[in-house]
Amino acid sequence: MTNENDLTGTRFEWMSRDEITAWQDQRLPIIVKQAAKSPWYARVFAEKGINPDDIKGLEDLSALPFTTKADLRESYPDGMLAVPKSEVVRMHTSSGTTGKPTAIMHTREDLECWSEIMARSMAMAGFTKDDVFQNMSGYGLFSGGLGIHMGSEKLGMWTIPAAAGNTARSLMLIRDFNVTGVHATPSYMMHVAEAMLQRGEDPRELPLKRAICGAEPYTEEMRKKLEELYDMKVFNNYGLSEMNGPGIAFECPYQSGMHLWEDSYIMEIVDPVTLKPVPEGETGELVLTNLRRMGMPIIRYRTRDLTHLVKGECPCGRVHRRIARFVGRSDDMLVIKGVNVFPSQIEEVIMRKPWLGGNYLITITTRKQLDDLALDVEVNRSSFDGNLDTLRARKAELEADLKSQLGFGVTVNIVEQGSLPVSEGKAKRVVDKRETL
Ligand code: ZN
Repeated sequence: MTNENDLTGTRFEWMSRDEITAWQDQRLPIIVKQAAKSPWYARVFAEKGINPDDIKGLEDLSALPFTTKADLRESYPDGMLAVPKSEVVRMHTSSGTTGKPTAIMHTREDLECWSEIMARSMAMAGFTKDDVFQNMSGYGLFSGGLGIHMGSEKLGMWTIPAAAGNTARSLMLIRDFNVTGVHATPSYMMHVAEAMLQRGEDPRELPLKRAICGAEPYTEEMRKKLEELYDMKVFNNYGLSEMNGPGIAFECPYQSGMHLWEDSYIMEIVDPVTLKPVPEGETGELVLTNLRRMGMPIIRYRTRDLTHLVKGECPCGRVHRRIARFVGRSDDMLVIKGVNVFPSQIEEVIMRKPWLGGNYLITITTRKQLDDLALDVEVNRSSFDGNLDTLRARKAELEADLKSQLGFGVTVNIVEQGSLPVSEGKAKRVVDKRETL
């Protein structure tokens, strides 16, 4: 069944555990030899005394070195390219906030594989060729736009590349073309719903049935709130440009963790300090190895994303293992008053309060040489009766809940709906103004 030359096709979706293992065993030596054609891996393997011919299968995975974001930056622009430049048909970059981005190159067949895996993911979530699908993600170098777009077309959906922004036009298209599926960041979907409610419109009246939300970590509470606001299903998608983009892991209709497509990626979850595998079910850093991308394979990439394996079998019958919703990136973890905090812990508390809106901003400052965390959060105007005593009581309750969640006090400012900055792409939730000593 494992014809190494056939890298596309839906046969991968329903592989058994034995078939997945056999396939990975067969692919890893091929991908390592391919990677060794790039100047970067040729040098790294030589320095570490690794002979690609010695990598015979999965049992040799741990002998291979990790690859980090810093390695990608250092090999910029094309040090990890493993095919002649004439074979490249597409490039994306990851969203680097500072300095050079990291560039990822794809051959035609790489794009075919990616389209297939994206289409497979969307079909799993219930999309069919009868859907009209509007992609409200940023296009361009960011892989979320074209990645989702290719999958949508591959599945045969009527695809509208609306891109991010211009909410009025996006809403017009959704209504005029009877759009049943969308892709956007969860914070943008929240913004659109709130903007509609403020105008006295009900997002439930839109024809939407399903949304794909990803590109930024969000909580289960945020998903529930979006599902209620629009009366639609919201599916979680995980991806990162370094490993292609969207579609690395995706939710099935049971929405209990995301199936990570193990025909395309070898997954490891390691302790970010010791780099040893964590016991099954414990949280660690996700490490991925490309199995199908021949243009620029990356070996044991440290994603910085923290997750854990969801134990047990999924009722849907797919055996690709499931990863849990991300608590955040190890880079996003804040250390406040010596306590480790993820912005998602704060979001969880906010989303449980129907009187609050979906937009918030965390500001960290130094006060009297101590860290101080302030939370600005928008009120939900439609559930505010104008009584200041009610507002004061609710604010005190929110502060108490945050304190019990985080273990330290937070200064809460309830602000008017629509007063915090809105992002059309990834939301900026944290401003760190601490003095660095
Ligand atoms: Zn499932």
